[in-house]
Amino acid sequence: MPIKNRFAETHAEITGWRRHLHMHPELQFDVHETAQFVEDRLREFGITDITTGIGQTGVVAVIKGRTDTSGRVIGLRADMDALPIHEATGLEYASTVRGKMHACGHDGHTAMLLGAAQYLAETRNFDGTAVMIFQPAEEGGGGGREMVKDGLMDRWNIQEVYGMHNMPGYPVGEFAIRAGALLAATDEFVLTITGQGGHAAAPHEAIDPNIAAAHVMLALQSIASRAVDPLKNVVVSVCAVHSDTDAFNVIPQSISMRGTVRTLDADVRDLAEAKLKQITDLTAQAHSCTADIVYERGYPATVNAELNTEYAAEAAASIAGSVDTNTPPIMAGEDFSYMLEERPGAYIMIGNGDGATVHHPAYDFDDEAIPAGCSWFAEMVERRMPIDA
Ligand SMILES: [Zn+2]
Ligand SMILES: [Zn+2]
Repeated sequence: MPIKNRFAETHAEITGWRRHLHMHPELQFDVHETAQFVEDRLREFGITDITTGIGQTGVVAVIKGRTDTSGRVIGLRADMDALPIHEATGLEYASTVRGKMHACGHDGHTAMLLGAAQYLAETRNFDGTAVMIFQPAEEGGGGGREMVKDGLMDRWNIQEVYGMHNMPGYPVGEFAIRAGALLAATDEFVLTITGQGGHAAAPHEAIDPNIAAAHVMLALQSIASRAVDPLKNVVVSVCAVHSDTDAFNVIPQSISMRGTVRTLDADVRDLAEAKLKQITDLTAQAHSCTADIVYERGYPATVNAELNTEYAAEAAASIAGSVDTNTPPIMAGEDFSYMLEERPGAYIMIGNGDGATVHHPAYDFDDEAIPAGCSWFAEMVERRMPIDA
């Protein structure tokens, strides 16, 4: 059973929605027009049980199956927000908002979930309840976490939850997934190393925080190479270094460094945080400096439940013929993780073909993936809540 025939018919319409969203990107929680667009389409499909303002600007819509003897409730989630990037695709439907762009394909995710909602509302060929979740602020704001805090899982009695992201560099409309951690926990740190400023010609009368910071930066690389089990995954990246002076002849008072720690396992996450603090503190001390450490835990790892990964893979294989069930984890983060912390479920990748990677100004979601993506969402509902069971 390949792509559902209905999506061949609605492909052009869904592509139209996707391109409209692409032209009108919004950031973080400020997705008011996008949420309104979603709500308008859902109402056109005849869906009346719609709640807005969940997690500030999230939208939740309920579609009842023809019957409900199963008592099951399956949640399907898409993200709605764009990125602060200036688009460089030159497409006719390029962003109309300077400095904002759908560079992660969330326009495609939202359009595909709308397409699935249209089909499910039309056919209702399932025994139970499907809950459509449209969330704001995936790109750093934790919109998924805010929707969970607003009672998403309990208010709608969601029992399983599924999400999807496009993957550039993988064939269009093909699927990849893995059980366990698929995406990383993303933590952030700011390290401020303070010495004593002075004249660059008299370093012996100052305490140079540059030297301490340089040693700290190098020593942090021993977390991955020496502290963590080589068969486990960790990334420690120092991304920005700032001095409190731009002068050629001044030893600064302090240096700040900021960066990120990415891990897949909870124990590695704890270890990396502890080692980062210890190394920074003691290395600064060894150079007569002090260290102020701000370490903030961001999104948790996105962990696919074993059984739900199988369900998701079976649905994907029914559409694409086959599915890669052992795709390597990605050290980027994803706030669908907060939903997966609350309920069993799975997150699947759908191929976006050749072209620029996500978060690049030349990126574009491939509309040819739409029928497969919509079919997968619909299959999850029909397979998990079959009418004749
Ligand atoms: Zn992104
Ligand atoms: Zn994304």
